Amino acid sequence: MYDAIIIGKGPAGISASLYTARSNLKTLIIGKDDSALRRALKVENYFGFAGVVKGEDILEAGIRQALRLGVDIIDDEVIAIEKNDFFEVTTGKDTYSSKAVLLATGQVRKKISIENLKEFVGKGVSYCSTCDGFFYNNLKVGVLGYKDYAVHEALELLAYTKDITIFTNGRKLELSDKYIDNIKEFKINAKPVTRVSGSDFLQRIHFDDGTSEDIDGIFVAYESASSSDFARKLGVLADGDSIVVDKYQQTNLEGLFAAGDCTGGLRQIATAVGQGAMAGKRMGDYIRSL
Ligand SMILES: Cc1cc2nc3c(=O)[nH]c(=O)nc-3n(C[C@H](O)[C@H](O)[C@H](O)COP(=O)(O)OP(=O)(O)OC[C@H]3O[C@@H](n4cnc5c(N)ncnc54)[C@H](O)[C@@H]3O)c2cc1C
Repeated sequence: MYDAIIIGKGPAGISASLYTARSNLKTLIIGKDDSALRRALKVENYFGFAGVVKGEDILEAGIRQALRLGVDIIDDEVIAIEKNDFFEVTTGKDTYSSKAVLLATGQVRKKISIENLKEFVGKGVSYCSTCDGFFYNNLKVGVLGYKDYAVHEALELLAYTKDITIFTNGRKLELSDKYIDNIKEFKINAKPVTRVSGSDFLQRIHFDDGTSEDIDGIFVAYESASSSDFARKLGVLADGDSIVVDKYQQTNLEGLFAAGDCTGGLRQIATAVGQGAMAGKRMGDYIRSL
């Protein structure tokens, strides 16, 4: 059991870990090496650097600093967070538990362009199996995605229906060992999807080869789970894609904090580092209060 799990290996998450680790909290960071900061080739507005510096160099220095302070860092992708007595954080490889969690997952950057998909949200298109799976009892549903996150969503939907197709939208499946066996339970359709259609409610999904098939519901679980995906499932308040937090970076779910680009506002290193520091400090206060 960890005291604090931080999801995201960017400046917000790393900054938070410096505070939790120095409060003697057992801290785990889970993230991938795709922080927005890695793409910043020239940074000259971050405090403390007289010359121009590469974003990657700032990030690597932060990671070395966190490791020196005893933070565990895992290169993995989180696909689900649940809260019972404690938090359970599931990746493609394992499940970890903790007393507090920080979302520091950066800006939502999903790229999916399927005609009419947005128009049918709430009318057959859903982003949350936990919230809406029940409405599709014994119906024919699809999950749009090609990674562990999509299989995880499809497995949740098995509680309601066995007729589930994973639509990869032309992508090859990218699954960790844990989910490869599960894939047998579902139909797979790897054709690129062009549009969805219906009248008041979703009825069909169309592919680039001109074919189409009937469908009652589509659950979007494309690419990696983002902060807003986690928020929906946990009932956490969000404003569009930005997680709503108080001045201490606490969300409306006790023990769950958020910092950095995933909270919106001024998306800069200084903001991410500042919010991370506040979140790390308050996670310590919260854990000690338990
Ligand atoms: C090209 C470019 C140039 C920039 N230049 C500047 C600049 O000059 N000055 C400046 O101040 N700012 C700059 N920025 C902005 C700055 O990089 C961001 O504001 C900052 O990186 C945000 O930090 P963050 O920790 O919130 O998110 P990020 O740095 O984006 O980190 C997000 C982390 O979350 C992880 N993650 C996401 N989803 C999951 C999941 N499901 N499971 C596990 N991990 C997950 C990612 O793998 C990543 O490790 C620039 C950004 C870009 C793209």
